[in-house]
Amino acid sequence: MKAEIKCPACLAWVSSSDGHCTHCGSVLDRNVRLKQDRISRGVSVGPPERKKTRIDLWLERTEHSENTLVVVLRAIVGVAWAIYMAVLGFIVWLVTLLAG
Ligand SMILES: [Zn+2]
Repeated sequence: MKAEIKCPACLAWVSSSDGHCTHCGSVLDRNVRLKQDRISRGVSVGPPERKKTRIDLWLERTEHSENTLVVVLRAIVGVAWAIYMAVLGFIVWLVTLLAG
């Protein structure tokens, strides 16, 4: 038995095994449709770019700084960030362990 789905464009019931509607020829797969829609609107299809946090911006700005204080601060922030991520990873591990 073939599954039938409703064509989003002409609302006719067509076999879902075909990628296109046999009535109007539009794409049936919702994801493919969305992708084509985005392309036609000129929106980038890839995953959205990660938003930069204040720390990212600050690290970028102070990357080539020769100020000792800034260099030390950068090192401290780097270590703190590593510890934060380690703790976060531990909590996630613990939660998954407790959840079974
Ligand atoms: Zn159709």
